[in-house]
Amino acid sequence: MSADGYRVIKGNCKYNHSFGGHLWKTPNCPNCGTNLHLIFNFDLNDFRLEKLSNNKMNYIPLISCLNCSSYWSTQVFKIEPQTGTITILKQTDEERWITEEEDRLPYPLPFSKMGLEELHESDILSKEEDTDQAFEDFGSEYICRILDEPLFATEPIQKNKCYLCNEDMEYVATICSEDYDSEGLVHEGFTFNFGEAFLYFYFCKSCTILQTEMQST
Ligand SMILES: [Zn+2]
Ligand SMILES: [Zn+2]
Repeated sequence: MSADGYRVIKGNCKYNHSFGGHLWKTPNCPNCGTNLHLIFNFDLNDFRLEKLSNNKMNYIPLISCLNCSSYWSTQVFKIEPQTGTITILKQTDEERWITEEEDRLPYPLPFSKMGLEELHESDILSKEEDTDQAFEDFGSEYICRILDEPLFATEPIQKNKCYLCNEDMEYVATICSEDYDSEGLVHEGFTFNFGEAFLYFYFCKSCTILQTEMQST
């Protein structure tokens, strides 16, 4: 079985995929007041990401505040490629919980160049096989998988509809925290941990809308 999804791993490739940094102007978090994190930025000139490309953007940013409860429910962002700005269209944080200061991730996250590696056979879920390996490696060998099918922690998320045009959105990627003994997967000497959660990103190409959903194990 050949995968059409990728593990996002640290390292150079000829495209400008990256982790962290502040290449986009991200909005302030309405709950904790700091800038939302630019987590990953993917270069849409990479033919492997053709499914996500449109004629409006050269890059697709994945953003969220990772230091509070704002990502626990659906978030909707508008990406403005002309100005490199991202704004919040919808965020319904009712918990108003903020991470303890010593556990907070910095803004900006440290910058690293990233590459893509085809998903391993054990990363792809098939109903007949044991899927534990896929969950075990996600977080211990890599923390972001792009395209293919989402790895759902609980119930499958129904196909998301765009907040503006109501068409089906494209699934983009899932991210998770690093396991405690697997630090440095995205940046040497850095620990990427925002809790026991999977964060799913969806995208509407025509409206340049980014939407997130969260599941926790
Ligand atoms: Zn926040
Ligand atoms: Zn739309």
